[in-house]
Amino acid sequence: MPNSVPDPIVLACDLLHCRTVTPAEGGALALIEVTLRGAGFTVHRVTFEEPGTAPVENLYARIGNKPPHLVFAGHTDVVPPGEEAKWSHPPFAGEIVDGMLYGRGAVDMKGAVACAMAATLDYLAAQGGAPKGSISFLVTGDEESIAVNGTVKLLQWAAERGEKFDHCILGEPSNAAAVGDTIKIGRRGSLNGVLTIAGKQGHVAYPQLADNPVRGLVKLMSAMMAGTLDQGTRNFDPSNLEFTSIDIGNTTLNLIPGEARARFNIRFNDAHSQNSLKTLVERWAQDAAANSIRWRIDWEPSNADPFVAKPGQFVDLVVEAIKEATGRTPKLSTTGGTSDARFITHYCPVLEFGLVGQTMHQVDERTAVADLTMLTAVYRTILERYFKT
Ligand SMILES: [Zn+2]
Repeated sequence: MPNSVPDPIVLACDLLHCRTVTPAEGGALALIEVTLRGAGFTVHRVTFEEPGTAPVENLYARIGNKPPHLVFAGHTDVVPPGEEAKWSHPPFAGEIVDGMLYGRGAVDMKGAVACAMAATLDYLAAQGGAPKGSISFLVTGDEESIAVNGTVKLLQWAAERGEKFDHCILGEPSNAAAVGDTIKIGRRGSLNGVLTIAGKQGHVAYPQLADNPVRGLVKLMSAMMAGTLDQGTRNFDPSNLEFTSIDIGNTTLNLIPGEARARFNIRFNDAHSQNSLKTLVERWAQDAAANSIRWRIDWEPSNADPFVAKPGQFVDLVVEAIKEATGRTPKLSTTGGTSDARFITHYCPVLEFGLVGQTMHQVDERTAVADLTMLTAVYRTILERYFKT
């Protein structure tokens, strides 16, 4: 390997050394900037902020000025390590023991960022320095927290500069047990609501003078939990509604409370829009209330709609690249929580493929070193096939 092509394992270790708990940059974007600039990329560091949030640094780098334009997206911020003493290897030391690389962000997702850079630089070296089309890196420092000064704004910023992406690979840890077992081709939507029942406060000993909202709450909650949102769709599991909290806040033993609330979250598939979902759930509540319970649902705004990549050339290309590099045939999945792919999908088709997700956000987050090598080979094969024509 020539000097200019970095080793993905060294790069991953270097990134793990950076303390990048959101919103700290921690030196990670600086490292990416130097690495990509050295290979001929034009690199932009952009900071976004808005009232009430911490400013967050992001990075956009591009090489080439022709289509097709493939973008690797990712984030360098990490969730906090928790109690560092609980780790068998310090969370920001990047230690390799028995073939495993330990550290916060090893799989989610500094490891994948390192693999994408190593694969790209190796590909460019083989091409004499320039791609046939364009390759970009879209790296945010605001994914793990509230995600308002990250990918959403970075995509808008790029669009205003006239950047057009044809396809995107997001390096979130998509695999369940081994590199190559799963590509995420879409994600469910997420919608939060609060169910509130109005009653009348009073003395427990004089219930005829009060109206206990807990009865209504239990009745409506039961109806909402019993309802079937759908049976699943071609690419998605059935949607589910889960109550996450019941809030009455009454500490007085002999008091009937005046109001009762419960929070819920719905993970929904492409059988619904946010509006059709709201209508359906409100009808369940309405029917259960039967005009005798005073209720309302307050819906929180959501930017997480369900999406799925259309089957076709790009999905096929990535599947074939994974088969070639890993020997495994990946499952096309839409499971799991939301990710920044929900924002990228408004700009271009996006697939998520990265490391194995088993230890993400846990104490002793780690990846097999062999997985870093394999993921680099997958990305390298994708690049080779993508720009082949
Ligand atoms: Zn992540």
